[in-house]
Amino acid sequence: MSIMCRIDDKLVPLYRVMWVSAVPHFCGEEDCTREGCYEIRLEQGESVWGNTEDRDKICDQLEQWQGGLGPTDETDETDDGDGGPW
Ligand SMILES: [Zn+2]
Repeated sequence: MSIMCRIDDKLVPLYRVMWVSAVPHFCGEEDCTREGCYEIRLEQGESVWGNTEDRDKICDQLEQWQGGLGPTDETDETDDGDGGPW
C-alpha cells in the first residue's frame, strides 16, 4: 500500500499525520470556507482539510499502515489451513 494519502489536491505522507478530526469543522464565522470539512493535522502546525470521504480514507489507511508495521514480506502468503477457524 502507499504511504501517501490523497486529501483534496495534496498527497499527504501518513507518517506526517498527527491527528484527524472526529467532527466536521465549525467556527461560526460567516465567511468560513472550512465549514463541514475535517481537519487533518500534520507536523509543524500544518493542516489539510478534507471531506467526509477523505477523512474516512485517511483513517482507513492509517489503521492499515499501523497494522502493517509488523511482518514484512519474508514469507509468502500461502496458508495451509493450520490457522484458526477463519
Ligand atoms: Zn472556520
